[in-house]
Amino acid sequence: MSKFNRRDFIRWSAGITLASGSLGFPGLLLAATRKVVIVGGGVGGCTAAKYLRKLDPNVEVTLIETKKAYTSCFMSNEVLSGDRTLESLTFDYEGLKRHGVNIVIDRVTAIDPAKKSVATESGETFAYDACVVSPGVDFKWDAIEGYNAEVSETIPHAWFAGPQTQTLRNQIESMPEGGKVIIVAPPNPYKCPPGPYERAAQIAMYCKHHKPKAKILILDPKDRFSKQGLFRQGWSKLYGFGTENSMIEWVGAAGGGTVEAIDPSTRTLQAEIEEFQADVINIIPPQKAGKVAFASDLVEGDWCPVDKLTFESTRHPDVYVLGDASSAAKMPKSAYAANSQAKVAAAAIVARFNGQSPGEPTFVNTCYSILGEEHGISVAAVYTLNRESNTILPIKGAGGLSPMDASEAQRKREVSYAHSWFKNVIDDMMG
Ligand SMILES: Cc1cc2nc3c(=O)[nH]c(=O)nc-3n(C[C@H](O)[C@H](O)[C@H](O)COP(=O)(O)OP(=O)(O)OC[C@H]3O[C@@H](n4cnc5c(N)ncnc54)[C@H](O)[C@@H]3O)c2cc1C
Repeated sequence: MSKFNRRDFIRWSAGITLASGSLGFPGLLLAATRKVVIVGGGVGGCTAAKYLRKLDPNVEVTLIETKKAYTSCFMSNEVLSGDRTLESLTFDYEGLKRHGVNIVIDRVTAIDPAKKSVATESGETFAYDACVVSPGVDFKWDAIEGYNAEVSETIPHAWFAGPQTQTLRNQIESMPEGGKVIIVAPPNPYKCPPGPYERAAQIAMYCKHHKPKAKILILDPKDRFSKQGLFRQGWSKLYGFGTENSMIEWVGAAGGGTVEAIDPSTRTLQAEIEEFQADVINIIPPQKAGKVAFASDLVEGDWCPVDKLTFESTRHPDVYVLGDASSAAKMPKSAYAANSQAKVAAAAIVARFNGQSPGEPTFVNTCYSILGEEHGISVAAVYTLNRESNTILPIKGAGGLSPMDASEAQRKREVSYAHSWFKNVIDDMMG
């Protein structure tokens, strides 16, 4: 990286279009050491930590994370088909340490924007000049009667990759041939909009080989979902969707797909019109910003409002909220989005430390879904910011869905693109 300077980073990596000369950091070497505290060592937090250090090695960066290693949710649906292990999704923070990031394993209890400090469960306090918050989502546990954190140990959500992903995989493996799996999809907005539908396909991928009479039913409180046409086409081709013998069925809101309650003892779901019983149930509850965002007064409604030029909270200055917890319409809640937002925020923070204005941001997102061993689909977008409405808008013609008439070779290629995207984003955030 010796020839990779700050300006290259901003131009090529962060996707920020700079007004010429707007971010030269002339005072960098003279400036006093600034402290950035990062809450959450997931995609947004790690990317921000790494790029802050790359942009300005004089910034002292401390990342506080509850777990010793990060297990990525992206690609975790592949654990359900048996194509991947949880270990292959788990990464330590040694790479970030090599970039000079201080790693603290602890839970942040709250941020005090008035004192500009962060408090942790173990009683430590960390002062900051800027604080980056990327804690991901939390669940609205009261949304489905009878479903709570304790019940989720046996009727898993598996929406945070980890032990519950393995539990769900084990349950699918041990269900009888001809068994039934129900996935309860969440209402918008939630992390990974195509995730529940890819999950159905990944479970079907396993069942096709090992339990060919199994059924997978998606109960959905929505009538439309991400990449719907491509999913329906892929499900039809691979799993007979739309025929009497389809392995996958989908019931949307109009068909009574909204689930209101569960009786865990009989694994029975009460939906709007009828009851459904299954051998394996996977409930993905409705979502909101992570707890620490609520404890730190960063939330309006369910999510954290931000100035999308910089991702600084509109509620408290010098606090930047990224990723799933932020209100970043029209970007989806995805790993790639969090990664892109983190680079914009890192550049804006360093600019501010040097008395400069932030650049004009451009954001990117691509989301792959793997429906079969050789069948991948994707959606991609490049976004610009409309300053007046503070809305991030896709740039027309700079993205789109994989074509409906893609050849088999293209679909197969998208699977390998998905896998290389995964490697690249992990490397970009913590390698
Ligand atoms: C099944 C599934 C599949 C997915 N597939 C894709 C995909 O293919 N492509 C894609 O782009 N996205 C995908 N995603 C979405 C992606 O995982 C998230 O959007 C992304 O991880 C968001 O990053 P984040 O930084 O906001 O939160 P996270 O990556 O969730 O990180 C949050 C971190 O903060 C930590 N934390 C929380 N509270 C505290 C606290 N109080 N103190 C200290 N640490 C704290 C957590 O432990 C966690 O490590 C998928 C998600 C799921 C569930």
